[in-house]
Amino acid sequence: MQEYIGSCRSCGKAIYCENGFLNGTVQEDQTLECFECQEQQGDQDSEM
Ligand SMILES: [Zn+2]
Repeated sequence: MQEYIGSCRSCGKAIYCENGFLNGTVQEDQTLECFECQEQQGDQDSEM
């Protein structure tokens, strides 16, 4: 079972919920972000 949730706010990649598992993350402001963009932001944060 696969349900379309929305698109990544950074790259526009489609985010799906598969069998209860979201292939991305929901931000505090309720926007969606895929794991790739999530990791890139993490790297930027660690450099600050
Ligand atoms: Zn993305």
